[in-house]
Amino acid sequence: MNKEQIIWARQALLPDGWANDVCVTLDAQGRIATVTPQSAPQGHRVDTLLPAPVNLHSHAFQRAMAGMTEARGPDPRDTFWTWRRLMFRFLEHLTPDHARAIAAMVQMEMLEAGYAAIAEFHYLHHQPDGTPYDDLAEMAQGHCAAAEETGIGLTLLPVLYRYGGLDRRALAPGQRRFGNGLDQFSALFDGAAKAVAGLGSDSGIGVAPHSLRAVQPEDLAFCMELAGDRVIHMHLAEQDAEVTEVEAALGARPVTWLLDNAPVSERWCLIHCTQMTPDETLRLARSGAVAGLCPITEASLGDGIFDGARYLAQGGRFGVGSDSNIRISLVEELRGFEYSQRLRDRGRAVLATPTHSTGRVLWDGAVAGGAQAAARETGAIAPGLWADMLALDSQQPDLEGRCGDMTLDTLVFAGDHRAIGHVWAAGRHVVKDGAHVNRDRIIAQFRHVQHQLQAVV
Ligand code: ZN
Repeated sequence: MNKEQIIWARQALLPDGWANDVCVTLDAQGRIATVTPQSAPQGHRVDTLLPAPVNLHSHAFQRAMAGMTEARGPDPRDTFWTWRRLMFRFLEHLTPDHARAIAAMVQMEMLEAGYAAIAEFHYLHHQPDGTPYDDLAEMAQGHCAAAEETGIGLTLLPVLYRYGGLDRRALAPGQRRFGNGLDQFSALFDGAAKAVAGLGSDSGIGVAPHSLRAVQPEDLAFCMELAGDRVIHMHLAEQDAEVTEVEAALGARPVTWLLDNAPVSERWCLIHCTQMTPDETLRLARSGAVAGLCPITEASLGDGIFDGARYLAQGGRFGVGSDSNIRISLVEELRGFEYSQRLRDRGRAVLATPTHSTGRVLWDGAVAGGAQAAARETGAIAPGLWADMLALDSQQPDLEGRCGDMTLDTLVFAGDHRAIGHVWAAGRHVVKDGAHVNRDRIIAQFRHVQHQLQAVV
């Protein structure tokens, strides 16, 4: 339980735009109680107060591999698939204790980067040979234990992963830890839901059919039934090879096939969508679903460029996620999204509108899309919502004298994590003066795990 808190900001981004001298009070549950512009300074004083987004896509364990796949392999062209082979080798050695310590590190870094919450796309379920742990939800509990330690808001997305490809081939040895039949997945989902219920009431659960490669069309219907009115996340169209494989097996490109065959709506979050035709881009925008963009990982893996200009022009919703967690930086995800458009179109301020600057469009979009994708009652500094907020450090020289949208533009295009002074996740004040409150312990645990893993991989 939080204490009631009072925060006062020189400027704050509210649903109607920027306001000055804003007093925000939080209730004991961690929700915003009141928001009052033109108030006298009081309580915890900050310079700029912003709504903090959800990181809508993460595979926490992959953080431990960051920087280990940058040498060229034996293949003439190093691709996503060589990266995936190393990931599989890594998984032969990862224990529940390792995974929990890595998840805590990842969540802490996300909070320090300015995210208040995470949607964890959780597919590492079993022991290395595919045997379930005594408790099916052991690994899910690890994410919850990490969330307890870090204070992040968690939307846990247990992943259904059944096949090694669209021809229903069996899982490869490296994929055995992910696999479940439908009954076992149901039981795992129940166990995960129970673990999440032990966290703060801002946390929740959804369902994630892994991709069209790993589940069959009838499995999608199963996932929708299991999800009820909860969110559904799925990888959709990341790589060229994936598009070719889906087209050969299902007779249509992945985005077209899904929009034709599933009731895609606001409850859906489709991860990557890098490979889309112009028509698919318009149709996805009109569906109301969130496109889950992971610009740093998509660049790292050489996936391609999301058609953001066309998608946003049609009112398409998006959020950002750190996916492989090779680098956890909210501002770099947003910057990477815009820069990819500039490099392709040879233009500037591609995602800006006549009324809103690029930084503002990116921030508003990521905050709204992240809230929708996590089904989290957040997305603005407004009474009744969870107090997911960040305060910028007014001592940062980059931000000197900046006001309004130019503050966001400077943060996104010139700033880095040093600008993030304080973060509240559902009112939990977990980042103070730029550092997470449990930083030293979490880093020590992570270092220990890295030593153990690097000795065996
Ligand atoms: Zn992913």
